[in-house]
Parts: sequence; structure tokens; C-alpha cells
Amino acid sequence: MSETYNWRILQNGDLPLQPNGDIHVLVEHRCSAVLVWPENSEPSAENTILVDPCFTAAGYDHALGELARLKITFRDIGRYLITHLHGDHMLHLPSGLVGVQLRPLRPPVNEGLALESLPGHHDIQLGLTLTDTEGRAVWIVGDAILGEDWLRAWQYYWPNGYTAAEIVETWRSVARIMAQAELVIPGHAAPFAVTPDLIRDLIAAFPRARHADQCPDVRQTLQTRLASFEGD
Ligand SMILES: [Zn+2]
Ligand SMILES: [Zn+2]
Repeated sequence: MSETYNWRILQNGDLPLQPNGDIHVLVEHRCSAVLVWPENSEPSAENTILVDPCFTAAGYDHALGELARLKITFRDIGRYLITHLHGDHMLHLPSGLVGVQLRPLRPPVNEGLALESLPGHHDIQLGLTLTDTEGRAVWIVGDAILGEDWLRAWQYYWPNGYTAAEIVETWRSVARIMAQAELVIPGHAAPFAVTPDLIRDLIAAFPRARHADQCPDVRQTLQTRLASFEGD
């Protein structure tokens, strides 16, 4: 059986911008930062991967608390993965990097982990996938999905000024995630489960997505996933 993994959110992703265009000024812009390490082992520099290590001051404080509970510090974390090259996901610790040994994750990745290409939001947008200790297929997807609210609204991060082709690519990446993930850790919100109800709602709302007419395969992929639930 292939390796299974623990994961822990070190920084809770959040975003002032809402899918309807409102801006919640009291909300901090910060990415989800997730620590991953193999089941049945203590986290250490040899076996940890930190996804999107870009910490705000508040997020860093939270991360220090989570690491303390794991009885480690940033100095014990081995490798990092940046899901995509946007400034809010790049390596940044408010305390600086003195003594920190973090080095970039390079393929091939460890047994039981996989890197998935999820373009659209960014040309090179990666996701890290794993089976967790509860047997769930967990997809850490960066900004391929900003959060469950954004997903349900079929909205994307408009300030990036996407082309129609990039928006279509975004929806195809969403479909790939929805087809295979059981738990999604999005780029700027809390993890959420992929349930039959969610897939049903996404199918119902998809016609309102921009350029949905250019990617009918997205709807088909979602229909196939829904049928797979019903076949269980
Ligand atoms: Zn981004
Ligand atoms: Zn982001």
C-alpha cells in the first residue's frame, strides 16, 4: 500500500475580495499554508513539505502555535512547494529565514504524493495530492480554487485580467479537482469536502460561469463524478 500522509493547516487562507466583488476590509489577504508529513512518523527536516510558505504576521503567529503543538519549529521543516508564482504564495517568514533550512521540493516527489498541473489562474499552477490518514484523497490546490464560495459562484480572481482561454482552462482545472478529490484545501479559504450535494450545485450553476459554452466537457466531468457517488 502506498504511503499515507498527515496534514496540518499552519496558516488559514483568507481573502478580502468576495466572489460578488465586495471587499471585506477587515479580512487579511493570506494564502493557505499546509504542512504535510508521512503517517506514523514525527515531522522533521527529512520528511516535511510546506505548501505555500507565505506568512503574514498574524498567520505566522498561528503557525508558531501549530508547530509548537507538533513540537517542531520552522527550522525543522525540510522542503517547500510554491503552488504558483504569485507574490502572496512565495516563501516569506516575517521573522526572516535565518537558520531556516527550507529548500524547494523537486520532482520526483515522495511515494504517495503527486504534483498535478492545474493551469488557468496561473500558467504554471500546481497542486499537491495525497491520501490522508483517514483514507481521503486530499488535493492542496493553491489558487486553482480560491475557496468553496468562489467555487460555488463559478467565480475567479478578476484583477488578474484573464483571457477567455484562461478562464476556460480554470474551469477545466476545477473539473479535474472535482473529479478526483474528496477533500480540497483551496488557496484562500478553509478546506471543504467534495460531496454529491456540492457537485449537484456546481452542475446547476455552471451555465452562469463565464465561457461555460466553450467547455461543455466540464459539465460532463461533473456529471460523471456525480454518477460515481450514486454508484457507491
Ligand atoms: Zn494566485
Ligand atoms: Zn493567492
